[in-house]
Amino acid sequence: MKLKFLTIKRKTVLAVILTMLIIVGGFTTFFTVRANASPKPLHTIVIDAGHGGIDGGAVGKTSGIDESHLNLQYAMALKSLCEKFGLGVVMTRSDMNGLYDISAPNKKKSEMAKRKQIIESSNADIVVSLHMNSFPLSSARGAQVYYAIGNDSGKALAESVGASLNQSIDYAKKTAKVGDYYVLNCTNKAGILVECGFLSNAEEEKLLISEDYKIKFCYNLLCGILKFYEM
Ligand SMILES: [Zn+2]
Repeated sequence: MKLKFLTIKRKTVLAVILTMLIIVGGFTTFFTVRANASPKPLHTIVIDAGHGGIDGGAVGKTSGIDESHLNLQYAMALKSLCEKFGLGVVMTRSDMNGLYDISAPNKKKSEMAKRKQIIESSNADIVVSLHMNSFPLSSARGAQVYYAIGNDSGKALAESVGASLNQSIDYAKKTAKVGDYYVLNCTNKAGILVECGFLSNAEEEKLLISEDYKIKFCYNLLCGILKFYEM
């Protein structure tokens, strides 16, 4: 009788241990799956909204909108799309404040140093700087992608984005150009500067400030980035 009782007790203990192991195993699997649900992004991109603070950049001919405003709107739209596609994003600015130190005697120099510091301290592999163009001749229009001379990966990225924009965005130039811009020259990462369009062209300005066009533009920009990663 006593022996039987002990046998039952041992069986019960074993059953409890097994149940506990299953529960613990289940939890481990659950947390592993949860952790894998948002893995570390394979690629991270710096999105740079050009200008900011006292530097408004170009001004919309009809709407009067500051380029710095529009650059930020495009940067935020691109950020949101990138994140949906699993890319990590580092922003140089997420509001209308300038990147310069407010007490700096030379704000332009201070701003440039800050942009470089954000780019170089990030773990990003590419940099996308967003701008809006302006030209005295109001007929000038169309997006243009630039890269730094001697930066082969920047050139490949620029060509990929140029081709992608050219497919879906009217007047977007397919051929990428060399551009002498600090934001491109300050890093060895694959950098491009995208002039999204001309605020000096009334028709293009109207498109650039519309929500639908902004999303369409950023989506096609992202397609060019994703194609570059596939290369
Ligand atoms: Zn600009």
